[in-house]
Amino acid sequence: MIIAVDGPSGAGKSTVCRESAKRLNWSLLDTGAIYRCVALIAMEKGVADNPVECGKIAQNLDIRFVASKSGQKVFIGDRDVSTEIRTFETTQCVNRIAPMAEVRRELLGIQRRLGHAANVIVEGRDIGSVVFPDADLKVYYTATAEARAMRRMKEFEAKGEKFNFDEVVRQIKERDETEFTRKESPLIQCEDAIVLDTSNLDFEQSCQALIDLIQKKVLESSHA
Ligand code: C5P
Repeated sequence: MIIAVDGPSGAGKSTVCRESAKRLNWSLLDTGAIYRCVALIAMEKGVADNPVECGKIAQNLDIRFVASKSGQKVFIGDRDVSTEIRTFETTQCVNRIAPMAEVRRELLGIQRRLGHAANVIVEGRDIGSVVFPDADLKVYYTATAEARAMRRMKEFEAKGEKFNFDEVVRQIKERDETEFTRKESPLIQCEDAIVLDTSNLDFEQSCQALIDLIQKKVLESSHA
């Protein structure tokens, strides 16, 4: 089965999908990590503003996800890039390369190949709309900008960093706007997706809500 989980940044979708996949003993495909790998190489080659060159990088991307005790690791060839793809610089860069048609076109095949492996949760922005439009279940995982800002503030506080709440909300809304309005594969809520609004749920409740939806679907399919 393929479960497509789409939704805006900063709602905790990745962490919840990872934990839910672990508890269900399913695979997880974090498609954002694939875009991040392209961004990392493009930055290193100094071609992040060149869609044709970024497309070539995507076309030749030798990416592997490797399970490890500390979670899933991401490799490009033999190089472990799990940490580098999460830096602030890579995040800034991926926001520029993800809208490129040349990149998205090339990554479509990679995502479909990796996602067809087993029972899998595939998480991203356009999984239900473009990558796996026939997914067994589509979930739109979201939370209000304010709830997402609260979560972000907690992360900042844990690191001893101080940020202005209104400014964090503003940044989140700005990023949403970019993802909702981009020309290529904008983030949309598919008509056949079940909306999971986690604004008032904590991490444990969010995992349980997603797991409940998946288990219900598995049960329905086994009776079909
Ligand atoms: O989810 P994450 O923050 O790792 O995604 C990194 C970048 O890749 C974001 O800019 C997001 O919009 C983009 N992305 C995308 N399509 C996907 C997954 C991620 O455009 N399926």
